[in-house]
Amino acid sequence: MTARRKILAAMAAAPLCGLAGRAAGGEAPQAWDQTFDVVVAGGGGAGLAAAVSAAQNGASVCLLEKLAMLGGDTLRSTGYFSCVEPRRQKMNGIADSIDLHCRQTMQAGRNLGNPKLVRLMVEEAPQTVAWLESCGVLFQDAVYEIYGSGYRRCLKPLLPRGTAYVRALSQKAMELGVKVLLETRLTDLLIDAGGRTAGVAAQLSDGRMLAVRAKKGVILATGGFGANAAMVAHYAPELAGLATDNSPGSTGDAVELAQRLGLALEGMPYVECVAGNPPGRKTHARLFIPSDFVLINERGGRFVEEDALRLTLTQAILRQPNRRCFTVFDMQGVEHLDPISQKGLYQALVADEAFNAATLGELARMMQVPQEAFAREIERYNKSAAGAGKAPAAAPNKCTRIGCTPLVKPPFWAYEVGLTVHYTPGGVTVNDAGEVMRTDGTALKGLWAAGEVTGSVHGANRLGGNGLADAMTFGRLAGKAAALSKA
Ligand SMILES: Cc1cc2nc3c(=O)[nH]c(=O)nc-3n(C[C@H](O)[C@H](O)[C@H](O)COP(=O)(O)OP(=O)(O)OC[C@H]3O[C@@H](n4cnc5c(N)ncnc54)[C@H](O)[C@@H]3O)c2cc1C
Repeated sequence: MTARRKILAAMAAAPLCGLAGRAAGGEAPQAWDQTFDVVVAGGGGAGLAAAVSAAQNGASVCLLEKLAMLGGDTLRSTGYFSCVEPRRQKMNGIADSIDLHCRQTMQAGRNLGNPKLVRLMVEEAPQTVAWLESCGVLFQDAVYEIYGSGYRRCLKPLLPRGTAYVRALSQKAMELGVKVLLETRLTDLLIDAGGRTAGVAAQLSDGRMLAVRAKKGVILATGGFGANAAMVAHYAPELAGLATDNSPGSTGDAVELAQRLGLALEGMPYVECVAGNPPGRKTHARLFIPSDFVLINERGGRFVEEDALRLTLTQAILRQPNRRCFTVFDMQGVEHLDPISQKGLYQALVADEAFNAATLGELARMMQVPQEAFAREIERYNKSAAGAGKAPAAAPNKCTRIGCTPLVKPPFWAYEVGLTVHYTPGGVTVNDAGEVMRTDGTALKGLWAAGEVTGSVHGANRLGGNGLADAMTFGRLAGKAAALSKA
């Protein structure tokens, strides 16, 4: 039986001690349905890392996931993990340092992130990589600069997208005896008379309620709110109506919980977008190595350096006629994609949501952009790609900074880009120890949070690759802290 099948079988056998009629009130009940040392809510990267780490530190652990499968946005992710990793970076001729990664993370976020948490994430990320390897994740030796990462320090697993993380950590969780409850939604935190988090209320798919005691602590790892259109429209009205690439589980349940229980929130208006799919698109075409593509507007020209930070790219796209543009690349860009991303691209081709052509002129016709302007632009770009590194750059550009793949190998490809809600840097406030803070400035004891659910790390803009570094690192640390805390 495969690991995932075993987990599903365990789910089917999970006892369902009904608590019909229990009001979600926040007070610990007289009797609990189940008792563990640590309860983790959310089965994405942060939650899985927390559950495994807590179990490795001796705790009995229950992991609640509201969907019918584990993974969340972590599974959908492209898998790039930002980390100062001297062995692989040296092999690829890249100089880097912890200080540089901290500085770039802070500056990208307009210095609104908590510098102590940023340093902790950056310093601990290499150990997180080693820990993930010990759990069975295999990383490539290559190091990447991806869309909005600002530097070449992203590691990528051998398996496509986020599968390596979810597969390895769920297997490890099972080996360690973590009890995983799927289709079980955290609805409330239950607080004891002393003001400590004593457990959670959760709702099963048939509507029954469950009270799960957490003797040592609860870890909130319920992800962001990118898939909650009303919440996005409320906090970032200028982005209302955009499509999202998030998992349907990213509905900001913790935001509602925080408002009800007086927990502090921060950074809520900073909703991150990427050049993704327009609303209504059924397939997923996406390139993420900025040296491999150009962004072209309706006039046939480039309008931004594609290696810019995500906030800059978002604002540039919003300024284009009809907020419309295309990602344009050649066959080399396709060859650089992992198999799942290639499949997404070919699905888009079949569905007429991406197109390719033997010549650039034919591609321009399909994109309905002026052919001459487009041809001139690509010629200029290819010259710049060929000249990069040969002479000192008078004015640095993408090609001099990170190199460019010249667009010369047919067929040439394009797909229309729509800004897509991708990540929500805002969320619950945590202190330097990862404990969740109340609006009165005190920590709610017995409650930690990790991953996209928190709002204290990235500030106004997240560097690409820092999402997984954050989720896995703070998940790992929160799991250990909860397991070792005094009940
Ligand atoms: C398409 C895409 C590509 C990305 N690529 C990258 C990349 O290459 N590198 C990078 O660093 N970042 C990337 N990101 C961002 C990255 O995936 C996230 O930052 C990270 O996965 C967040 O992990 P998490 O565990 O906090 O949240 P998630 O992985 O989303 O997990 C949260 C889980 O909690 C569950 N949940 C929610 N509410 C409840 C509830 N009430 N009760 C129980 N369970 C609940 C959800 O269903 C979900 O399974 C990408 C994101 C997307 C969408």
